[in-house]
Amino acid sequence: MTAIPTVTLNNGLEMPQLGFGVFQITDPDECERAVLAALEAGYRLIDTAASYGNEEAVGKAIQNSGIPREEIFLITKLWISHATEDKAREGFERSMSRLGVDYVDAYLIHQPLGDVYGAWREMEKMAEEKLARAIGVCNFKPDVLMDFSIFNNTTPAINQIEVHPHHQQHEAQIVMQELGVQMMSWAPFAEGLNDTFTQPELLALAEKHGKSSAQIMLRWQMQRGIVAIPKSVRAERIQENMNIFDFELSDEDMDAIAALDRGVSSFFDHRDPETVKRLASMARDT
Ligand code: NAP
Repeated sequence: MTAIPTVTLNNGLEMPQLGFGVFQITDPDECERAVLAALEAGYRLIDTAASYGNEEAVGKAIQNSGIPREEIFLITKLWISHATEDKAREGFERSMSRLGVDYVDAYLIHQPLGDVYGAWREMEKMAEEKLARAIGVCNFKPDVLMDFSIFNNTTPAINQIEVHPHHQQHEAQIVMQELGVQMMSWAPFAEGLNDTFTQPELLALAEKHGKSSAQIMLRWQMQRGIVAIPKSVRAERIQENMNIFDFELSDEDMDAIAALDRGVSSFFDHRDPETVKRLASMARDT
């Protein structure tokens, strides 16, 4: 089985550099099957969220895998509905109960919306109580992350943001490195938007290395020191996405991928007021 490298977070916690994401796997049986397949393939990092509606299925898969809980790095996220000092604990407890666990490895603020400062103070308590071994954020732009890190006692361990060849986030990475925040990517393939899987430059590199374009995208992230969490419901792709530790991209290959950066999101911009309105309208109870 492939050995997955680890990164060390700013609180000393070790975390696998490659994990498995379960966004948009809404059918419980399919989600349980996919997580089991990932664990069987050797993934030890699972990324879910209250808002994905599949924490129960993830928890079942972990229990049925027979893998000791402490060998799995489990991440879930606080949804906007509970992003206040008063409600964060309730959101966390609901997640723990759905997952059927008594701690999570990392608990992340899902969106930079609402009273994230208040929520963070409660999350700092969860970390002190060892209910969350690490706490972090998602979708924090560099200036927001800088402000948040300066004006809180605990610097986030992780910032999970959109990263793929069309949105490479080099400047965001420099700020995270300065702050000691681990960069973690979501949508490492941009979910295939703008034809990432058939991008000619990526296909050329795939042919050169005897790999797929998906593997090139993931390997590129590994070499940039990013933690990636590709999602798939197909066992063969789940395996394929792990087979990225037996080859290396050259500096020239890395430069060829760097040239694909469009510098904008393939999905939506968190700074766009319409995005904020739309996300806020999704603050349903979770
Ligand atoms: P993604 O991993 O970039 O793309 C998933 C898509 O790629 C699926 O359609 C999948 O199809 C396909 N795929 C997977 N492996 C493939 C391969 N080897 N060849 C061809 N196609 C392949 O997108 P994502 O799921 O949005 O992002 C990954 C994870 O990041 C999520 O699952 C979630 O955990 C996290 N995330 C977090 C946030 C946040 O705000 N914090 C936002 C979005 C996502 P099949 O399933 O059919 O194989």
